Amino acid sequence: MELGKVDIREIHWLMDMFQSIDVGIIVLDRQYRVHVWNGFMGNHSGQPGEKVVGSNIFGLFPELPEQWFRRKAESVVMLKSRAFTTWEQRPYLFRFKNYRPITGNAEFMYQSVSFIPLVAANGEVDYIGVVIYDVTDVAISKRDVEAANKLLEVLSRTDRLTQLNNRGYWEESLEREFRRVRRTQGPAALIMFDIDHFKKINDTHGHPAGDEVIRNTAALMRQASRETDILGRYGGEEFGIILVDTGAEGARVMAERLRLAVEASVVHHDGHDIRYTISLGVAELTEGMETHKQWIEGSDQGLYAAKHGGRNQVVVHTSDKK
Ligand code: GH3
Ligand code: MG
Ligand code: MG
Repeated sequence: MELGKVDIREIHWLMDMFQSIDVGIIVLDRQYRVHVWNGFMGNHSGQPGEKVVGSNIFGLFPELPEQWFRRKAESVVMLKSRAFTTWEQRPYLFRFKNYRPITGNAEFMYQSVSFIPLVAANGEVDYIGVVIYDVTDVAISKRDVEAANKLLEVLSRTDRLTQLNNRGYWEESLEREFRRVRRTQGPAALIMFDIDHFKKINDTHGHPAGDEVIRNTAALMRQASRETDILGRYGGEEFGIILVDTGAEGARVMAERLRLAVEASVVHHDGHDIRYTISLGVAELTEGMETHKQWIEGSDQGLYAAKHGGRNQVVVHTSDKK
């Protein structure tokens, strides 16, 4: 490296800095022999400069991704321009322990790496500088922020009482399914149901008992459904199930199975055995429907008919335009 007109006092300062700076600095020749190895590299690798200088880097650190490293270095030499890789592309180059107390839960030191061509006076690149940045703090906080965002997203679409999709998210899903089925032309059906005489359960056994009945209903819904069904709590004691690739008859069979499961179940609360039933409406998505709201209306009409027909039953709504 050219020192040019640099004052000798500045060189001492530079050398101190070079040893104590909190980034790793390596200089390699074209045969990947180490020429420069600073304090950071010595401290973290446990291999001091006097031991590594003159040796081939891949011999010293067999765990290095040699192919990848060579490709980077060669392109830097050829193009005579720098290259930068972040921890997001490759979490680390050298596997160093993470010693930072704040980010102590990181298994290793996350690193970003710069490759710098060191151009000699004749224009040739004889050496490559490699700078290793410890980005553990940034990586960990980004990882934590992403985890927190994910958690928030799940929380914001989940109903607290039942862990089913809440109304907002479930209806968005219904709208998505509506549009998707419109494109693909496959069958799809919707079940809407409501607990019968739920007010009486609340009045007789108390609100917490009512909550327990709602939770029990959600559990039976999960048992009766398939992985691809989209379950939601639509209102207080109203629920919806979107069945993809299922026609009216398949949905009716599933609704009937759920009806029987609810009828057979007993909720034990405060020494009481609570039995209850549900009424269900089914509607298949048909040509005549212009919005997902009309799909909901269809199954809601089925549900209304089931209530008026005496409750504890399934009614399939059939629209005129089929
Ligand atoms: P029907 O057979 O006609 O459906 O009669 P119903 O009594 O079930 O109908 P209605 O819709 O009038 O009553 C629903 C009640 O559900 C009213 C409301 O106080 C109660 N409710 C709504 N959300 C909750 C909840 O989260 N927990 C409890 N325990 N009760 C709720
Ligand atoms: Mg009800
Ligand atoms: Mg209701």
